[in-house]
Amino acid sequence: SGHAGRADPPSWYVAGRDHVWLPYAQMKTAAAPLPVVATQGSRLRLAEGRELVDGVASWWTACHGYNHPHIAISVARQLEALPHVMLGGLVHEQAARLAARLAALLPGDLGRVFFSDSGSVAVEVAMKMAVQYWINHGFRGRTKFVAFRGGYHGDTTATMAVCDPDDGMHRLFKGLLPEHVITDLPRDEETTAALDGLLAGRADEIAGILVEPLVQGAGGMLFHDAAVLQRLRVLADRHETLLIFDEVFTGFGRTGAMFACEGAGVVPDIVTLGKALSGGTLPLAATIASEKIFAAFWSDDPMHALMHGPTFMGNALGCAAANASLDLFEREPRLDQVKAIAARLADGLASCRGLPHVVDVRVRGAIGVVELDAIDIPALKARFVEEGVYVRPFGRIVYLTPAFTIGEEDLARLTGAIVRVLSET
Ligand code: PLP
Repeated sequence: SGHAGRADPPSWYVAGRDHVWLPYAQMKTAAAPLPVVATQGSRLRLAEGRELVDGVASWWTACHGYNHPHIAISVARQLEALPHVMLGGLVHEQAARLAARLAALLPGDLGRVFFSDSGSVAVEVAMKMAVQYWINHGFRGRTKFVAFRGGYHGDTTATMAVCDPDDGMHRLFKGLLPEHVITDLPRDEETTAALDGLLAGRADEIAGILVEPLVQGAGGMLFHDAAVLQRLRVLADRHETLLIFDEVFTGFGRTGAMFACEGAGVVPDIVTLGKALSGGTLPLAATIASEKIFAAFWSDDPMHALMHGPTFMGNALGCAAANASLDLFEREPRLDQVKAIAARLADGLASCRGLPHVVDVRVRGAIGVVELDAIDIPALKARFVEEGVYVRPFGRIVYLTPAFTIGEEDLARLTGAIVRVLSET
């Protein structure tokens, strides 16, 4: 497949070509990766000199755009002062300030913050918290989770097991994975009654209900409304089980509210954050528990402690980036920008409706989705690059999750490219 650019590739590109194993890629047939030499705002600069408008924001992490100077300066200062100390018996200012700020921002009494370094691990920690919550209360059999079709919670073994089982990505590993209960979201009377019955029958096996609130992301960019989450809260309370929101995708403004739980007016027992937590600059994630959860671990019994501790949890550079990112949410009109993006995405993608392979067009917050029927996705990817944009469809989904700071013209280039490319099919 060779180098995707026009000029000779840089020497580092050639040196690494046979050694960097790419994610989600059939290495034999996948297009060669594009060599990126710099980022700025909503743009990726390629080695050959061309700039692409980035429609993905690096898996929707770079909410303030790339290279925001406030984050860069904060991280640089932290690098000189204290790049990292373990949280084993130690704490530092950036972690303490960040934990307190997250507690103040999140609804209800979600305020006990356990740091980690990726979204998958944050979800695993939430699952361990939920299971041990029950053990500490004397219930040993509650080890299964109710999760939902269309859901995605990560690629580690524990999190694969709570993803949509029909997602081809994880099917190979069935024998490795524990069995959970993957069912339909309570979208209507029938599915609500089914979930109610399921929880009534199996309450003594279930540790909690795990859901991506308002938007199921990597499992298909599927939307549901606040009423679904309100029903989950009612059912979790009725059957005395825990409600966990995985906000790794939806956290930090992506759906229009700072957090989807806040937007939906539903307070879960545990929430996970990652991705945009550090403004998309450093690997950082967090699992935040309510007082009810934390109280189950507060004991004279050492066996009641949470036995988990990733080496780089609460990394000071990551926490400095996250504090700087929260400064930007305070100082700059991010949520207004999300609202404006939503309107422009709806406008710009509207003419995809009625194109030959388009099944649905939907927008929520700074998420624009065009769902297709069977179509040649690799060919689409190459066409987007030719159009000067970076758009990375998966499954049958073409989507945009741009930086909230993206300019009107760049956003129009993204939606225009999608309309043009899909018009050719
Ligand atoms: N949970 C959700 C909702 C996600 O969207 C993702 C990543 O796409 C994850 C968990 C996993 O996060 P990570 O890739 O940082 O492990």
